[in-house]
Amino acid sequence: PLLFRGISSATATANLEDIIGLEDEKQQLQDIIQLSMEGIVETRGVLLYGPPGCGKSLLAEILARHCPAAFIKVFVPRLLNMGINASAKFIREIFEKADNASPAVLFFDGLIDREKHFVLNQILVEMDCLTPNTKIIVLAATNQLEIIKSSLTRPGHFDQQIFVPSPNEINRRKIIETFISKLPSISDDVVDLDFLSQKTAGFTAADVKQLCKNALRLAIKESRSATKLSKTHFEEALKFTHSSVTVDENE
Ligand code: ATP
Repeated sequence: PLLFRGISSATATANLEDIIGLEDEKQQLQDIIQLSMEGIVETRGVLLYGPPGCGKSLLAEILARHCPAAFIKVFVPRLLNMGINASAKFIREIFEKADNASPAVLFFDGLIDREKHFVLNQILVEMDCLTPNTKIIVLAATNQLEIIKSSLTRPGHFDQQIFVPSPNEINRRKIIETFISKLPSISDDVVDLDFLSQKTAGFTAADVKQLCKNALRLAIKESRSATKLSKTHFEEALKFTHSSVTVDENE
């Protein structure tokens, strides 16, 4: 479960267009991966950072799938239970697998500060040991900003960093619109998109999706039909769906 070649089922059918907003971030990561894989500008590590639920994993997994390289993902929090020696061995083996499968994208999702003494250190050691010019890019995602202050960002490690922000008003609107467009015969005019995109200031992309799901659940509970989803259900859902983070509005 820690490792897979290919991608997780959640993103297996997702496309670049499913990432709402993040146009610059998408382009930046795409360029880094492409230039490195083509041997034009080598990049060893890219750190994606920003609030939770705003698309770091989505971005990494979908873009990696779009390049001709093996994709290996490690969900770092699960390594914490393994203990120092076992996790170090695991990480070493992962790098070996990536080397054998090269070109490869190795993605460490959910890096957190407290394991820096072993998981993080081992990742850095393995990055140092990679053969120069080998076509391996290490991506890592974190929502802990302290990480970027650590040795992680030293040249040769994660010297490329991409901030993945919370969605602005326009993108919150798009997330709601997209959700509604997938429902059977719901038209945008039964919900007030301007009102909702304003009311969700400070929400992460995942929070906005959660709001939509909560509103839909209310509609189904009331009338057993998704087509009856309306402004009232969203207003009701707004009473108990809140932002999961404290973030500045970045618009
Ligand atoms: P964490 O730091 O908690 O790992 P994350 O930034 O990696 O979070 P994801 O796991 O990529 O966030 O996204 C969480 C959920 O929110 C997913 O279901 C994803 O589909 C949705 N989501 C996040 N960002 C976007 C976005 N920009 N466009 C569309 N959906 C998004």
